[in-house]
Amino acid sequence: MTSIIQAGPQFNGQASKRMHVMAKPIGAACNLDCDYCYYLSKEDLLEYKKGCTPQLNDENLEKFIRDYIQGQNTPEITFSWQGGEATMLGIPYFEKIVEFQKKYQPEGVVISNDLQTNGTLLNDNWCLFLKQNNFLVGLSIDGPELLHNTYRTNKAGRGTFKQVMKAVDLLHKHEVKFATLTCVNNLTSRNPLEVYRFLRDVVKSPQMQFIPIVEMKTFRETAPNTWDISERLTQGDKRLIPGQKDSVVEPFCVSDHAWGNFLIEVFNEWICNDVGTVFVQYFEALLEAWMGHRNPLCTLGEMCGKGLAMEPNGDVYTCDHYVYPEYKIGNIAETDLQDMAFSPKQQQFGTAKSKSLPKQCRECDYKFACFGECPKNRFTRTQDGEDGLNYLCAGWNKFYRHADAGFAFTLRRLGLPVAHGKHSDKVLAGKQILPEHRA
Ligand code: SF4
Ligand code: SF4
Repeated sequence: MTSIIQAGPQFNGQASKRMHVMAKPIGAACNLDCDYCYYLSKEDLLEYKKGCTPQLNDENLEKFIRDYIQGQNTPEITFSWQGGEATMLGIPYFEKIVEFQKKYQPEGVVISNDLQTNGTLLNDNWCLFLKQNNFLVGLSIDGPELLHNTYRTNKAGRGTFKQVMKAVDLLHKHEVKFATLTCVNNLTSRNPLEVYRFLRDVVKSPQMQFIPIVEMKTFRETAPNTWDISERLTQGDKRLIPGQKDSVVEPFCVSDHAWGNFLIEVFNEWICNDVGTVFVQYFEALLEAWMGHRNPLCTLGEMCGKGLAMEPNGDVYTCDHYVYPEYKIGNIAETDLQDMAFSPKQQQFGTAKSKSLPKQCRECDYKFACFGECPKNRFTRTQDGEDGLNYLCAGWNKFYRHADAGFAFTLRRLGLPVAHGKHSDKVLAGKQILPEHRA
């Protein structure tokens, strides 16, 4: 079995070793009630005590931080904190986190932190803390007011746009590093340029992350890959369209074609005007793939398994999208984190991503960039009846075909190699366009 321990340059004279855990010290608890939050339902699934806000206790927090640092051998260790809404824990909880990190920080190792937030609780004090401790903030914002407020609501059902824009101002004022995280749903997907230009010109997002919203109606109680095989639908079936009668996906989801169209519109604007000045995470990651490098995003990479998730009771799961009882790999209080992260069960989960690809993906021209995308979205069948095709396949494929020449052109203009695609260095050399006519 291939190890998921990253082979890389040595560090401190030993093989480099890294892992990544999405820590959820407050679990699913959140001050908002966004319609498509995949995590709120975990309150029931994981049997959190009703009415109590779960919290990773000090003992488990310290053990987690110690294990996480001691289980890695790399010059930089990144902690990721998520919820629910982790800022509900308050600044003192995060001060404790930083204290524990300092206590266990090895010499010569940089420790950094990411914090994912809806932004509504941020204030000057929070931003001072985040700036002082060099946190990278991931801010959820879905676009201009109407688009954002449709699904991102508080417990009273009111939109949160104004509060989030206040957070944007505070982050800029205090020069806190941040990225925006935008859900591409049934509505935002139909307004790609409005969303992109808003993030670029109004929010002045230093880094845009787009997340396609895909949830089967059964996602609250059924883990991905445990769906009833006999009920899987063939690519193109109308019941895979969100909002259709008998649709198997939630109405707020993006459809496969809308996803492709969204990416294409944003890509066209970006490549014409913004390469080098606007950072769109997908495009940067795909440029790496076109160059022949490993895709830094797990969803488009060859393997899963490098991003575990930890709940407030210390339970650890194979992935943030697999927080279901069947995917639990242990508990931080009982098992060393590195034993879980590099366990055979986790390695099996990691390699299954490539091993389970249907023929349509194995023979796809863009497998190098896509690898069948995230397994949690592989609930459809290919036209010839093979199981395990990604729900978004048609959209991804349309986008890759559209962007292929643009990625190649961009790399060539930067003097970088083009290892893949229909305009790769090899293909052009075969047509005798390279090297004499290389741009
Ligand atoms: S299941 Fe999806 S999100 Fe999780 S590691 Fe695999 S690709 Fe990434
Ligand atoms: S574009 Fe479709 S066929 Fe190609 S690798 Fe991705 S999911 Fe598979």
